[in-house]
Amino acid sequence: MKAWVIGNWKQNPATLQAAKTLLADISSQAASMDLTACQLMVIPSLVHVTALPQSDSIALGVQDISAHSAATGAFTGDVSAAQVKDAGANWVLVGHSERRQYHSEDESTLYNKIKHALSQQLGVIFCVGETKEQYDSEQTFNVLAAQLTVIEQLLAETDQDCLAERLIIAYEPVWAIGTGKVPTVEEVAATHAHIKAIIQSYAGAEKALGEPCVLYGGSVNAANAAQFAQADSVNGALVGGAALQADSFLAIADAFATAKRHK
Ligand code: PEP
Repeated sequence: MKAWVIGNWKQNPATLQAAKTLLADISSQAASMDLTACQLMVIPSLVHVTALPQSDSIALGVQDISAHSAATGAFTGDVSAAQVKDAGANWVLVGHSERRQYHSEDESTLYNKIKHALSQQLGVIFCVGETKEQYDSEQTFNVLAAQLTVIEQLLAETDQDCLAERLIIAYEPVWAIGTGKVPTVEEVAATHAHIKAIIQSYAGAEKALGEPCVLYGGSVNAANAAQFAQADSVNGALVGGAALQADSFLAIADAFATAKRHK
């Protein structure tokens, strides 16, 4: 399995011109690197997506889609999976902790978003992770099991054959996002193995998914990427802050490409 290194640009940068420059810098620097073992994706602001050039080597995603309708309808402010697909993006982030926190997105909202995304042939990066309080009280595995039931429901209620190509799980401890704090590699590796085991225990998972692709996210940077990349159960990284500079984003990609090339 190729490693994914995905940049979530959040509500950055300030202008379309800056977004174009960032993507152009990433593309030109990546062209001179050996990233054959690594697939890049960037997830810009929705308002920038249509104006960014499409590229064969860098996948394009969006940070949100409507939970209400996969196509069109009276849902002011929403953008549907079909509109995103038409705009040229092929992936969507669902369940990011900032959406769960600031937009109160619950399991049923997330389920609808994933269902709509898949119905329009968008791939989904589904984010899960525990808060600091949950981590401190050793609730991580219980929290993840509850969050992952969305995938169980998806497998039970919809006919998903080639889900392996279109579903990525991102394990992002909430307390590690944007804080500079990271779990140990051993903790991340054990949690990823647990996530994979939970998903593989669902009916139909083996046929639809094979081995689930699980990324780590939370304060990944150029200095710590190589240690996460060494772990077999870590299939890539979801990167926030360090994705806003071509140099640091590609240093992370290089760490994963190098580690996975030798596996
Ligand atoms: C994120 O928001 O998905 C993220 C991982 O952010 P950061 O890398 O800045 O912690």
